[in-house]
Amino acid sequence: MAEIHHYLLQKGITTEKCPNTHIRQGDHSRVLISILFPGYPIIKASEQHYREMRESRTYQAKTIDLAYDRLPTTDQYERLDELFRTEVDWHQDKVSVRIPLKRLNRATVVEGHASSDFNVRLFLYLWSSERLPWLPDTLQQIAIDDEDWQALTETDQGSIRFGFHQLDITDKSPTITKANRRSTGEVCLRLAFEGLPRVRHVSVCAVWEKKPEELTAQLYAQTASLYLGQALERSSRQPAKASEVQQQAIELLKPCGNQNDKLNLDKMETLLVACGQTFWEAWNSHEGEEEEEEVVVMEEEYVSVMDPILLSIIQHPARCIFCTHSTCFDANVFFKFQVTSMNWQCPICCVKIRGIQDLYIDYQTKVALNKYPNQDRLLKQKDNTYTTPSLIESNNGTKRTHEIITIHDEGSKRLKQI
Ligand SMILES: [Zn+2]
Repeated sequence: MAEIHHYLLQKGITTEKCPNTHIRQGDHSRVLISILFPGYPIIKASEQHYREMRESRTYQAKTIDLAYDRLPTTDQYERLDELFRTEVDWHQDKVSVRIPLKRLNRATVVEGHASSDFNVRLFLYLWSSERLPWLPDTLQQIAIDDEDWQALTETDQGSIRFGFHQLDITDKSPTITKANRRSTGEVCLRLAFEGLPRVRHVSVCAVWEKKPEELTAQLYAQTASLYLGQALERSSRQPAKASEVQQQAIELLKPCGNQNDKLNLDKMETLLVACGQTFWEAWNSHEGEEEEEEVVVMEEEYVSVMDPILLSIIQHPARCIFCTHSTCFDANVFFKFQVTSMNWQCPICCVKIRGIQDLYIDYQTKVALNKYPNQDRLLKQKDNTYTTPSLIESNNGTKRTHEIITIHDEGSKRLKQI
């Protein structure tokens, strides 16, 4: 790993230095992947990897870990490692669990980087068997150590209502919030249910909760990666062109070398616009090749750039790959209001969105919004580019006046001649 990293540094492909020499091999490989495939959701790949690994393990381990894959979740939460699991006595209406504090250390590694900047949460899951997650809908109160019983918060109840199985315990007590790998002692968690709970296992999992801005930045990076990937793929047959494209890609990616840059919305917006400017043509003609049979005649149309949820001008124009409309919605507003539920749908045409992989930023609209801010609608021209209606109207206006003058002149000339 260190040798590959050294090679990348030497070739100028990255400026990011090798992390600590004691870093685990798996974590280092995540760093390398994040350098080579920016915008690629590494967690998705590692989830796949872990799933394959679990399937080849012993029956017992497999059933416990596979159970996590069946838990309902959304892209807002990236599940990291299971930190703790224990069996509980299920013959009572109260369940009590003692968890060693050092097991609740949230400074786990996310995408190859220590997670200090990531909002890592501790999710408590209840299980009615090793395989079966239990929806905590009859959970009524919770108490930590010797403190008083407290009712579930609005947020807890909301997430259970939406069908999520987790209970976020990160802020339930300062002891839990502050827990790290050097912590000693344990925390006692008591749960009170309405009726017999039939909970046999309790587990705690570290989960990275993403802010709307982080998801939007991820969407920009994902779309930029698409353009980069297309350009690299298309140019691969011509060695000279390929090396030019690679060099362009390296230059474009230089300002966003580390993980924090990838979650920085401004940087990712800049990256997408730069990738679009450099590679949009290549991507466009590739699209044409694929859909040769379909002759689509584009008509001019007015397109609103008002977000359908907030009714303000869109800043981050997004669309789902299944949408057939030209209008966009604001990705940041979408993530703010829709991801709390598991059923994502396009706020314009209501098509079902499976996850962030079904979304993309519309580059042409983004460019038009940068060019014509403060317009609530734009005119989409036949070549797919945008202009403002007011610009067209004033152009037409000038023309018309001009034409009238010409006719008048000709008329008077004709009159003179007669
Ligand atoms: Zn739609």
